[in-house]
Amino acid sequence: METPVIVKVHEGLHARPATQFAKLAKGFSCSLKIGRGESWADAKSAVKLMLLGVKQDERIVLRAEGEDEREALGKLSEFLGDASVNLPAGEEPAASVARAAAPAVTPQETATPAAAASTQSTQPTQPTATPALKGVPASEGVAFGTVFAYFREEIVADRQFVAPHEVDSELTRFGAALEETLRAMLAPRPGAQCDDETDDEIFAAIADVARSDDFAGAIRTLVASRWSAEAATLKCGLDLAVAFATLPDEYLKSRADDIRGLTRAVAATLLGKPMPSLSDLPGPSIVIAEELSAPDLARADLRHIVGIVCTTGSATSHVAIIARSHGIPAVLGLDAHHDTLRAASRAAIDGSSGEVWLDHAPELEAAMTQRIAAQREVDAALLAYRDVEPQTRDGRKVVVAANLGSVAEIEPARRAGAMGVGLFRTELLFMDRQCVPGEQEQYEVYAELARAFAPWPVIIRTLDAGADKPLPGVRFPKEENPFLGWRGIRMCLDSPEIFEPQLRALLRAAVHGNLCVMLPMVDDVDEVRRVKAIMARLAAELAAAQVPHALPRLGIMIETPAAVLTADTLAREVAFFSIGTNDLTQYIMAVDRMNPNLAALYRTEHPAVLQAIRMVCDAAKRAGISVGVCGEAAGKPALIPTLVNLGVDELSMSPNAILRAKKLVTEIEPVRNEAARALPERVCSDE
Ligand code: PEP
Ligand code: MG
Repeated sequence: METPVIVKVHEGLHARPATQFAKLAKGFSCSLKIGRGESWADAKSAVKLMLLGVKQDERIVLRAEGEDEREALGKLSEFLGDASVNLPAGEEPAASVARAAAPAVTPQETATPAAAASTQSTQPTQPTATPALKGVPASEGVAFGTVFAYFREEIVADRQFVAPHEVDSELTRFGAALEETLRAMLAPRPGAQCDDETDDEIFAAIADVARSDDFAGAIRTLVASRWSAEAATLKCGLDLAVAFATLPDEYLKSRADDIRGLTRAVAATLLGKPMPSLSDLPGPSIVIAEELSAPDLARADLRHIVGIVCTTGSATSHVAIIARSHGIPAVLGLDAHHDTLRAASRAAIDGSSGEVWLDHAPELEAAMTQRIAAQREVDAALLAYRDVEPQTRDGRKVVVAANLGSVAEIEPARRAGAMGVGLFRTELLFMDRQCVPGEQEQYEVYAELARAFAPWPVIIRTLDAGADKPLPGVRFPKEENPFLGWRGIRMCLDSPEIFEPQLRALLRAAVHGNLCVMLPMVDDVDEVRRVKAIMARLAAELAAAQVPHALPRLGIMIETPAAVLTADTLAREVAFFSIGTNDLTQYIMAVDRMNPNLAALYRTEHPAVLQAIRMVCDAAKRAGISVGVCGEAAGKPALIPTLVNLGVDELSMSPNAILRAKKLVTEIEPVRNEAARALPERVCSDE
């Protein structure tokens, strides 16, 4: 018998609902098929259902034949017509199994602590006989050591066929490798403390695909016809990935990555090739990759990364920001062939000049070692500024604060004499896990920060996800221009289930010190007013429940031209401004901050950007509020005098730039002529 059904399942039958549906169908003894247009699929196979690509609001036909057909059609129609199945709250995270299962990489010789070194030196690199490759200088300092190449390498089977007597052992080997891979995939991830079941469900769905007829079944059939286990895995897995990749639905298409990741992981296990990720680096290493995402680094053991080289990215990529905040020299956007990079076993890098040497001469390491020693002397002299609260020569006080992304950075920031925190990037808390952290966990982090720096202010930025910062626990829409898209405060205002727990945690933590809240990517005063209304409501709810809390000072980042041009209006609504020069530069100059080919055009020191900063400082002064800079420009020696003379009260930067910045502030001469301050071109040429 047959019955037509309009599918109401949220976003149709993709991985998770397809798995649930197939499981339900398997509970009936009758044969079950689902028809979409001309195509029919076995309703008991999750993979076949996914490949059928059934969308929400589509009309399909359910066909059943057998004893319990009536009951089956009733139950399955009910499932398909249930709009609450897979609602956004339980939506599948964007994280792919390709990432979860770790990409295939080439492990190189393990570095030893003695074999790798790095420093923050800014002196020029010594000349060397080996020609350098050139990239974008992204994080200061020099480093050398053993290469850890983090590339997705194609895994190749060493033989295609086996002898007839080997077939049984090949089948056993495949079964064991599959289960070992799935066990590793389903094991709790280090640091994952959430009780959200979404990622478990995702991995369970992938495990179902792995064990299905379309994956394991197809592989076993090929092995039975004398293919080797690895050759069969690669053939069937990659064919299945292609089937997904050619689906019109963008979301299902992206499941191809999961299948490829699964295939590579099983094949690597069969071939005895380890599948390292940045969380299990063999020792101190220079990581060389095509691209490193912020989540890649959030999961890495940064103590073992002495240098970073990528063929993509530029100085304001978040990878560069993380590298700087951990004092890891980095060169991004390197113009080099991947094969050349993969073949290297040792590398030396200069993150200040953007130079990279592969398999360099030993003299280079000797020169770098000297440079490291010289820089240590400079650093030791700077320690005298640790407790200094710097003033310019004419007595203007300037706060020099730290940009942080984790509590692990509190101590280095305090040691560097940070006068509070000018920017705490909360998104980094959200990245090293498969789901969003809960209110209590966030509260503990924010309270620890507030306590650690009291009475100095600690400015916590609300979640700034989107653009180049995807979140594993949140599904972002595919956008043509993500930097102009659903990011920062826009995303938070649309996602109360993420935003409100964060605001509640901040209200509760505010009783522990001088905590301030800052909103990213503000475009319009209405966004600020909406947040204030939410905070007032949450504060009233906490009061009613007798939970200790306080209303923190609220400020905004000035990152968009719209915020610059309406700074006077915005200044009346908030307690402080902080200029995000990384984004402000890209939006004023219309230059993508991630594009290495445009690095020369990405200039915060351009008169247009300086003019914008001046306008913001003037609006802040008129309203009597403070103004800081927390973009990378704040720590740049060449820009510090300009920013201070334009009226900036606070500079917030990576901890390792603080002492140098304090010293520079004490050397700033006042601008004698007001006209010079008002004319950025003049300020520029003064540098
Ligand atoms: C900025 O845009 O300057 C900033 C500090 O924010 P982020 O770099 O995190 O986008
Ligand atoms: Mg920004």
